[in-house]
Amino acid sequence: MIQWDEHFIDGARCQVGGGRTVPIHDSATEAILGDVHLGSASDVQRAVDAARRALPDWQRIGVQARASMLYRVADALESLGQSLAGDISREVGMPLKLSQRIQVDAPIAVWRATAALADTHSFVSEAANSRITMVPVGVVAAITPWNYPLHQITGKVAPALLAGCTVILKPSELAPAASACLMTACEQAGLPSGVLNIVQGDAEVGEALVTHPDVQMVSFTGSTPVGRKVAALAAGDMKRISMELGGKSAAVVLPGADLGKAVKATVASCFLNSGQTCSAITRMIVSRADYPKCRELLAEAVGKMVMGDPAHESTRIGPLLSALQRERVQAHLTDAEQAGFDRIAGGPDAAVPGQGYFVAPTIYGDVSPTSRLATEEVFGPVLAILCYDTVEEAVALANGTRYGLAAAVWAAEDGDAEKVANLLRAGQVDINGARFNPRAPFGGFGMSGVGREGGVYGLEEFLEPRAVQFPG
Ligand code: NAD
Repeated sequence: MIQWDEHFIDGARCQVGGGRTVPIHDSATEAILGDVHLGSASDVQRAVDAARRALPDWQRIGVQARASMLYRVADALESLGQSLAGDISREVGMPLKLSQRIQVDAPIAVWRATAALADTHSFVSEAANSRITMVPVGVVAAITPWNYPLHQITGKVAPALLAGCTVILKPSELAPAASACLMTACEQAGLPSGVLNIVQGDAEVGEALVTHPDVQMVSFTGSTPVGRKVAALAAGDMKRISMELGGKSAAVVLPGADLGKAVKATVASCFLNSGQTCSAITRMIVSRADYPKCRELLAEAVGKMVMGDPAHESTRIGPLLSALQRERVQAHLTDAEQAGFDRIAGGPDAAVPGQGYFVAPTIYGDVSPTSRLATEEVFGPVLAILCYDTVEEAVALANGTRYGLAAAVWAAEDGDAEKVANLLRAGQVDINGARFNPRAPFGGFGMSGVGREGGVYGLEEFLEPRAVQFPG
């Protein structure tokens, strides 16, 4: 049994003393792996004090010295990364092969790419008689979810540190391995005391952090309902916010597009990490004429997906994080059955392994655009197919939810796809299967959030412009 019972405050590990714990289960076996110990408001106070004390020196050492530290953290994470991939895989259910690449290697690359911005990003510019300097926001509260734990921590902590901010991280209490590993990496890298503090906890600790008067910015990734609450609390002190929230992203398949490729990529996106991905494509919008062929291709693609133990080489789809997540997803499936949608694959009664929090990869066709399945984030392996008669209708359907995180467009020509992409209210639109670009801004329109992560855009979230005017 592992006890995740340490905070990392002011450069040292210290015992969590709150007395409250949360059990962590192996998502594939349901066995208890250990307990996360939850902190309290007094731990938050100590962490904020440490971050405040560390701020002047961290700003003074300059961006190149801060970048060197980021590289050292990346090196340390790399040396610890092998076991982390397995730990995250057990926690969230992602197949191990993918976990190494996506959950560990990719965020380490982001630490390095963020550090490299020190060489290319200009922090000073001129406009008429003004010199504008981009200055660090100050003490940052970073609150992260469980689905890509190291990735989401990295998307906040690395740019905030490079900018010259100091940070209190409150990672998800449901996926503790990544932040435990980061504590060791900070020690190995010799990060100055107080620059990054990690406080274990749940909503109680999160709220203490968000409302602390010495926190200047809240960078939050998580669900839209919690994000709304956090944003409202932060507004009390007019704190700067960055909100990376939920999604209900759509692929628009135009007439003449390569249906085979569109189906393959949509299935891969929707079922990655068992659907526990904020930017997953969870709606596929196809012309009524293409629907029968699309249906056939979808059933075939899902038929090939191997579901099972995330540790096995051949597994493509693992379990969900927890019994609660499985219950939430099953409720959506029961609802879809009652609505009478065309079940193409899976369903609430489909066969799954006897142990573990599995839900079969599920697809419903001809889904009503106003239904729960078409408008709400499921956060499980469930794809909804919607049909259109005109391209205008397809665009309206794609834009027909309150979210706007990601989208995809498929067409015979990239130019035609781009015309439709430019009509979509989504922060990221992939054309004809284009690959993910970590330097592009990542974030959402509408209820998917405020602000961006990734590359220069992610760095600028942690900087405030100060304009100094010269006479004459
Ligand atoms: P969640 O909203 O339940 O929790 C996120 C974090 O907020 C956790 O650390 C949690 O402890 C903390 N928290 C909960 N209540 C709080 C409160 N009242 N005050 C302060 N902090 C509080 O989300 P989750 O279940 O961990 O993650 C899944 C959600 O995250 C999905 O909706 C997904 O779409 C979203 N997400 C978005 C992105 C993105 O980049 N847009 C990325 C990953 C996940």
